[in-house]
Amino acid sequence: MVVLGAGFGGLEVATAVTSEPGDDVELTLIDQAEGFVFGFSKLDVMFGRHEPGQVLHPYAGMVNPGVRFVSAEITAVDPESKRVETSAGPFEADILVVALGADLDPQATPGLVEGGHEFYTVAGAFAAADALRDFGGGKVVVAVTSTPFKCPPAPSETALLTYEYLTSRGLPCDVTLVMPLGTPIPPSPDASAAVLAAFAERGITWVPERLVRALDPARKVALLSDDTELPYDLFLGVPVHRAPQAVAGMTVDGWIPVDPLTLETAYPGVYAVGDVTSVGTPKAGVFAEGQAAVVAERIIGSVRGGAAAGQYDGRGVCYLEFGGDQVAKVDVRFVAGQRPVGSLIGPSTDLAADKTAFGADRIRRWFGREWAPLSAGADS
Ligand SMILES: Cc1cc2nc3c(=O)[nH]c(=O)nc-3n(C[C@H](O)[C@H](O)[C@H](O)COP(=O)(O)OP(=O)(O)OC[C@H]3O[C@@H](n4cnc5c(N)ncnc54)[C@H](O)[C@@H]3O)c2cc1C
Repeated sequence: MVVLGAGFGGLEVATAVTSEPGDDVELTLIDQAEGFVFGFSKLDVMFGRHEPGQVLHPYAGMVNPGVRFVSAEITAVDPESKRVETSAGPFEADILVVALGADLDPQATPGLVEGGHEFYTVAGAFAAADALRDFGGGKVVVAVTSTPFKCPPAPSETALLTYEYLTSRGLPCDVTLVMPLGTPIPPSPDASAAVLAAFAERGITWVPERLVRALDPARKVALLSDDTELPYDLFLGVPVHRAPQAVAGMTVDGWIPVDPLTLETAYPGVYAVGDVTSVGTPKAGVFAEGQAAVVAERIIGSVRGGAAAGQYDGRGVCYLEFGGDQVAKVDVRFVAGQRPVGSLIGPSTDLAADKTAFGADRIRRWFGREWAPLSAGADS
């Protein structure tokens, strides 16, 4: 069995399939990155709470004896033959799981690379940390440049954390958030109301149902989808997302279609989970993980010769940072053909501890390591 991509989805599939005693599955896990970084850790680094080295979980030294990790770039996937071409040679699989996530393309937004910062790639978020540290205050525009995009709450969190970061340093700040959505957290009216109230309290300007199409670095203005302009001193953008080129042949309208209950693709023996799919849930780690658990259950069932059991229920619990150590949870369920519903819990400082435990639990389960990052600058 071969798993492509060792992010949220791939790590969970690999761990779940190999943690069942008695099953003799040979599993190869392939990724080109040095290690795994949680999406939320990008914000922790950006806002100076953690150092980059504290949030990278290296693949080297993974302790799971059932997983053979291969560090390589995947260049082509033939889903019919289940053959994968990589920089470390070809791999052939009886079962293939595609968990390659979404590639990010800052170049696709004119002016973004020259005149702004994207904060969704690991390198971009770390560079944005330097830009924020050197920023003397002024107009900050946080904006989404296309849909779909990962973790729909993340731009709202970024606006709130930017406000906290700058005001706590005594710097002038005027934050505007440009989002394609009508409300900050569409499935949860309560969560949206809490976020909009937090924006109002801090004077953060909320610009819904619009995208930033381009930046004019010379004039320092962002050009919006409704043909208006927004001046900025610091631009923090969510770049264009697309499926990795290696699986372009499997996509329909940009993403890999899957059965929403089983995560099977149109190709027998080939599953896809997480951001690379058009399964109908938001692109977020908790959903990728839930899908991965179902795929693992089905694979174990079929390896044992029984019926492939386990169906995806579309549920995920997302954390939402308000700043000031206040974190909320949104418990949300996406079912095909139904309006998604989500309930709000918090915000509170207890839930900030809950979020830390969420990360630590996954690193223990996937890597067999303890993870308790100290705040940046704290004595070790
Ligand atoms: C700022 C920010 C905050 C976020 N906060 C949250 C949050 O609080 N909660 C949450 O649930 N989600 C959050 N997310 C979203 C979350 O990070 C992603 O949705 C999640 O990681 C998707 O999981 P995945 O397994 O589909 O893909 P990924 O985790 O992205 O994994 C894909 C893997 O495939 C590898 N890969 C891709 N192409 C190739 C190739 N050609 N060759 C080899 N390897 C390749 C990549 O290196 C990567 O390791 C956040 C995202 C961002 C950017």
